[in-house]
Amino acid sequence: MKRATSTASSPAPRVWRNWAGTATATPARWCRPRSEAEISAAVKDAASAGLPVRALGSGHSFTAIAATAGVALDLSGWTGITAADTRTGLVTARSGTTLRALNAELGGLGLAMANLGDIDVQTLAGALSTGTHGTGARLGGLATQIESLELVLADGSVVTCSASSRPELFAAARVGLGALGVITAVTLRCVPSFTLLADERPMPVEEVLEQFDTLAAGHDHFEFYWFPYGRKALVKRNNRLSPAGGAAAAPPALPRWRRFWEFEVMENAAFGTLCRIGRARPRLIPALNRFSSAALSARTYTDVSHRVFVTPRRVRFAESEYAVPRESLGHVIAELRRAVPLLPDPVMFPVEVRVAAADDIWLSTAYGRESAYVAIHQYAGLPYQDWFDRFESIVAEVAGRPHWGKLHSLDAERLRPLYPRYDEFRRVRAEVDPEARFGNSYLTRVLG
Ligand SMILES: Cc1cc2nc3c(=O)[nH]c(=O)nc-3n(C[C@H](O)[C@H](O)[C@H](O)COP(=O)(O)OP(=O)(O)OC[C@H]3O[C@@H](n4cnc5c(N)ncnc54)[C@H](O)[C@@H]3O)c2cc1C
Repeated sequence: MKRATSTASSPAPRVWRNWAGTATATPARWCRPRSEAEISAAVKDAASAGLPVRALGSGHSFTAIAATAGVALDLSGWTGITAADTRTGLVTARSGTTLRALNAELGGLGLAMANLGDIDVQTLAGALSTGTHGTGARLGGLATQIESLELVLADGSVVTCSASSRPELFAAARVGLGALGVITAVTLRCVPSFTLLADERPMPVEEVLEQFDTLAAGHDHFEFYWFPYGRKALVKRNNRLSPAGGAAAAPPALPRWRRFWEFEVMENAAFGTLCRIGRARPRLIPALNRFSSAALSARTYTDVSHRVFVTPRRVRFAESEYAVPRESLGHVIAELRRAVPLLPDPVMFPVEVRVAAADDIWLSTAYGRESAYVAIHQYAGLPYQDWFDRFESIVAEVAGRPHWGKLHSLDAERLRPLYPRYDEFRRVRAEVDPEARFGNSYLTRVLG
């Protein structure tokens, strides 16, 4: 998230802008609380002034979900682990803690998050509030790792919720879209630190699709990237090494120079250069995309879990992602392959496919069903609307649910039938925030 600074001589209002550059806002007030009491006071002050309030994360949602014209609560001064029990794995962290800082602190305690997405710059509460997920057919999204939450509600009161205390608020607030209150602290169920054996290799797309169920079931964390004009997909299989054995025979961690070469140079600098060429000469994009696909190579290595899950993402892009019933994945990819050659503007970025277990969180994209996640992207500055529209019409056929933090066009009317507990979420919201103190225009669209 970038913030324009104002000076004494130019009292221009501070602008909020998200990472992708797809959303901006000019909050009436900025507030940087450093305690729960200050968060509560900020919410009460906003109510007295008749202003709405949004807590800010790291601005890594592509949608305007965090945007506000009211009070922007910057929680970057509200960070760190406050309690940890290494025996049970229960760890409480302040909501503004970034996942990167959390992973580092957990590592020091011999603990880890059971699953993560592919970046770590989000704040804990920001990532949870939009249903951020990684991959793994036996694992749920990050919010399934929550034991309890502490929130400041619209009246300034502080409440705790868990499966046994205010269970309805808990079912709603774990993926709460920032609509129910300001999360101040999260207690997570962590696991002992673990090592992952990463195996990444290209495979023909047809083979990946034929073996999709076996691959998803057979590996702790399975995903693939498919370049839309290429014939191969990059398949990633990450498996936990048991502490008892296996590590001795496993390949070592990548040396520093190779991590730098592969993640920074090849996946960011070199890929960024190809993207810039494609943006300057869009007709070359299919060939550049085929080249990227053909250049995929295999690597295997081991490392501490978060260093395998997370990679740097320096090339900016726009993204949409939908969760679809696992069994519909083949149909969705087949339709996307048919759609790509007909698009008016070629697609530079790969399609990413991941999996997750069903969960019971009311607005989780994996609520009640084994899910496959299909994410499409386009390089910043290239047209993407036709591609994203076509994608949305394909996933609509299979009741796809959009990631709350990634670009989509669905409104309350379209979302309601997709979520069996949608009305309950709205009821809980009406109870805890009757005046929509935490509202914004994105929430008006998706919640009515
Ligand atoms: C490069 C990139 C890679 C990504 N990779 C993945 C991935 O692998 N998997 C995945 O699922 N998603 C991924 N995302 C999406 C990202 O994880 C989500 O959009 C996430 O919500 C961003 O977190 P944030 O801290 O930036 O929150 P923001 O985008 O700043 O805010 C998100 C929401 O959280 C709310 N919020 C923030 N703090 C609080 C609080 N204390 N209390 C209540 N509400 C709060 C905000 O009001 C807003 O509604 C990626 C995004 C990018 C840009």
